[in-house]
Amino acid sequence: MKVWNYSAGPSMIPVPVMEKAQKEFCDFNGLGMGIVEMSHRSAEYMAVAAEAEQLLRDIMEIPANYKILFEQGGGRGQFAAVPLNILPEDGFADYFVTGHWSRCAYKECAERYGKAILHECVEKDSDGNFYIDYSKMQVTPGAAYAYACLNETVNGIEMFNLPETGDIPLIVDMSSNILTRKIDVSKFGAIIFGAQKNVAPAGLTVTIVREDLLGRARKYCPSIFDWSVLAAHDSMYNTPNSFAWYMAGLDFKWIKDLGGVAELEKRNCQKANLLYNFLDSTDFYRCPIAKSDRSRVNCVFTLKDESLNAEFLAQAKSEHLVGLKGHKVLGGMRASIYNAMPLEGVEVLVRYLDKFAKAHS
Ligand code: PMP
Repeated sequence: MKVWNYSAGPSMIPVPVMEKAQKEFCDFNGLGMGIVEMSHRSAEYMAVAAEAEQLLRDIMEIPANYKILFEQGGGRGQFAAVPLNILPEDGFADYFVTGHWSRCAYKECAERYGKAILHECVEKDSDGNFYIDYSKMQVTPGAAYAYACLNETVNGIEMFNLPETGDIPLIVDMSSNILTRKIDVSKFGAIIFGAQKNVAPAGLTVTIVREDLLGRARKYCPSIFDWSVLAAHDSMYNTPNSFAWYMAGLDFKWIKDLGGVAELEKRNCQKANLLYNFLDSTDFYRCPIAKSDRSRVNCVFTLKDESLNAEFLAQAKSEHLVGLKGHKVLGGMRASIYNAMPLEGVEVLVRYLDKFAKAHS
């Protein structure tokens, strides 16, 4: 039986992608073996890997002067890889903090690798709602890079504007909103994302990096985190997560066939509007994020009466709605409605929210 899965990640993968992987699992393309059994250096696997990369380049319109790296180590691995690759020992970087994950990235840099300048960029308005203060996103002249997280998965805050950084490369974490909306890749020095929310199973991390940022890694940067080493080896310096890379390719193809990122963006707006409009229509629930900065994919909300939390989650589960509990650092609830979540899943959720509210008002 199918459940509606609102988990923040790992999270839903499109049904057609899961079914295709299942169909091919034991025998890929009539080769008599599955993808997970195949050498990553075989001609057949290399073709799968190259196709996935090309599909990503196509659907994101990634310019030719950017490398796409398929890595391991997760978002947190990249929190270290970013300074190890592009922060000189005597340099400094600006970190624009908008929530949990950008703060983790800031700390990783500041506590281990060098000087990081903290810019607190979230404020509370007079209604008690959090909003992004873009005026705080000022780069410091001479910074090696500026860093931001375009969607704060835990806090439910998304950046729809970008800071003006001039010649200073802007490095962004898009782990939870990659491929959910159109972006102009040429505006960024590098884009990092873990695959486990919008793309593939966990264990695959992607870095899209402008070529001029390669070749600057510190001597002691582990080779597997050195972007130029990975680029020189077509992301096969060590054994990649071959299964997740293959699944990513299936997902990119699914996106291309349904009309690309623009179509997904349209659907994501529709889903998010449905959910937030409902939450705003009732006093029973509350979303603590200012309307302009609400994440389209991670909707955080609280019940006015928090003593009902456990009952809310238990009843949801009994009706096959799972993964609604908020992140442990924030509490409350969170519904993650990434690319793979169909509109129907949001309609089901809204009906549940409405029914629960009416039964307890
Ligand atoms: N950045 C963001 C925006 C995330 O949501 C997460 C994980 N939820 C991370 C980084 C950390 O990723 P990982 O667990 O792959 O290290």
